[in-house]
Amino acid sequence: MLLNKQLHIVLLALAVPVIALLPLPDFWIAQLNYIGLYALVSLGLVLLTGVGGLTSFGQAAFVGIGAYTTAYLTLNFGLSPWVTLFIGLGLTAISALIVGVITLRMSGHYLPLATIAWGLSLYYLMGNLDALGKYDGLLGLKSLSVGSIDIGQGRLFFVLCWAFLIAGALALVNLLDSRPGRAIRSLKGGTQMAEAMGISTFRYKVTIFLIAALFAAVAGWLLAHFQRTVNPSAFGLKMGIEYLFMTVVGGVGYVWGAIVGAGLVKLLDDYLQVALPALIGTSGSYEVIVFGVALVLVLKYLPDGLWSVVARHFPKPRREVNWLHAPDLPVRAKPAMGEPVLVVDKIRKQFGGLVAVNDISFGIAAGQIVGLIGPNGAGKSTTFNLITGVLSKTSGQVTFRGQDVSDLSSRDISRQGMARTFQHVKMIADMTVLENVAMGAYTRGRSGVLSSMLRTNQAEEQRLMKEAQRQLERIGMGEYLHEQAGNLAMGPQRLMEIARALCCDPALLLLDEPAAGLRHKEKQALAAVLRQLQSEGMSILLVEHDMDLVMDVCDQLVVMEFGTLLTRGTPAEVQANPAVRAAYLGTEH
Ligand code: ADP
Ligand code: MG
Repeated sequence: MLLNKQLHIVLLALAVPVIALLPLPDFWIAQLNYIGLYALVSLGLVLLTGVGGLTSFGQAAFVGIGAYTTAYLTLNFGLSPWVTLFIGLGLTAISALIVGVITLRMSGHYLPLATIAWGLSLYYLMGNLDALGKYDGLLGLKSLSVGSIDIGQGRLFFVLCWAFLIAGALALVNLLDSRPGRAIRSLKGGTQMAEAMGISTFRYKVTIFLIAALFAAVAGWLLAHFQRTVNPSAFGLKMGIEYLFMTVVGGVGYVWGAIVGAGLVKLLDDYLQVALPALIGTSGSYEVIVFGVALVLVLKYLPDGLWSVVARHFPKPRREVNWLHAPDLPVRAKPAMGEPVLVVDKIRKQFGGLVAVNDISFGIAAGQIVGLIGPNGAGKSTTFNLITGVLSKTSGQVTFRGQDVSDLSSRDISRQGMARTFQHVKMIADMTVLENVAMGAYTRGRSGVLSSMLRTNQAEEQRLMKEAQRQLERIGMGEYLHEQAGNLAMGPQRLMEIARALCCDPALLLLDEPAAGLRHKEKQALAAVLRQLQSEGMSILLVEHDMDLVMDVCDQLVVMEFGTLLTRGTPAEVQANPAVRAAYLGTEH
């Protein structure tokens, strides 16, 4: 799929000089220039909104920073535009980091609201500063040149701005097919799974906000020198909404959607500005109304945008398997058989007056499968979440491999080698099984955003893919590698989560109701996988409802009822315990 996307971009890169040589009227070249500039802004939103699920109305303000920086500095200080580009990027980065860091820690609708406020305040700032020419803006910018060649107008500018667009698109496609890219693609589905894989979701949210802002600033720099004048109207909230509109209409998740959306909005905008006043008889910005209606219709009938209709007709080629000879990833030292791995000491959780977990203690030795069982509402999931750091404890201590992990976040605990699955499967449905599983190996790689964009990450990428394939084969999922994760049945989905957890190279595996929703055959397959993992030395904590499975595979059981420990022991001991029978049958004995 991704190679395919790269190919499309390369074809576009070849088409651009051909278009430049065609005898098109200058008007159309100018239109293509605007489309290229808008698409560059929209491309940033594809990453931020389409892939990352974060909405910004403030992209026009970042365009404005890029434009005003170069206008002010070239006019007043005679700096070269090639220098002011980088100053503009620097200023954009600083402001994006400030806006991002303040708002992205908060969940929900803070970012859209903050970007509206940001867009408005920058608009009024530009419009009221004497140095920036108030609402008249700055006039008389030079057009871009290399030596004595003017590349700031017409066909040469067309090639220049589309070169930026193509470079940006290629960087984005490369990024999304990488270790940080998979982390970014996980953001939309909430933070819990990504954090459990050791990913700092906050960092990636700030990163994509920054990248989108930088794309916008480059477009602003180009726009300023193309128009040779800047004024606030091009950078207000209305444009911010239009950029978002382009992205949504084109298809938020698609690099090509940015170009389609930008083209459509630009052409429609021009047409409507002439046609609507003629139709209605008075002048005014009526096109805004048409755009609003169109947006509602697109969201209702084509939520994935126009490009999704085109994309449907392209086959999704398989990822080329090029990692078979890559070196294995290093592994962590594992505890010796029988050594204590996990010690849970009197952990307690109160929700207001309810004691959900009441001073529970137990331990797991290396190579053991321990089952945590109990009727519904007994406190199993809460205990699981206290151990994995998803919930904070009211009191008590958790020691993992001799280290106190009581106060660590779920991200740091996973980095220590405690890997988990989820009661409700959490995956990225539109990624392949292999890519989903590779997310588990996130903490075992280190390639960043820049090296991924430039594709200098390939050696590490191959090692990660090899590890993902190895773990999938380890649990008998070898034939599902290239399947879309969202197309899997429940059984294979749960196994995929186990493979993803194994990719962390864990010393302890925590499974939350892995048999829920499985058929009899699938449960047997699961039991076989668990026994095999144990034979390879893995330690497992199994929270499970299914008594047959638990009795079948566990060495030790911990039984909870109403938050308290009912009993502990081997499956045979527990089965013989009258209190356990009573708890499960719900009768007093
Ligand atoms: P189990 O997984 O064994 O079915 P849980 O750990 O989910 O049980 O729940 C134990 C008890 O704690 C239940 O009574 C449940 O209603 C309560 N509980 C769980 N989570 C919360 C929460 N976030 N706020 C308040 N009560 C909760
Ligand atoms: Mg539960």
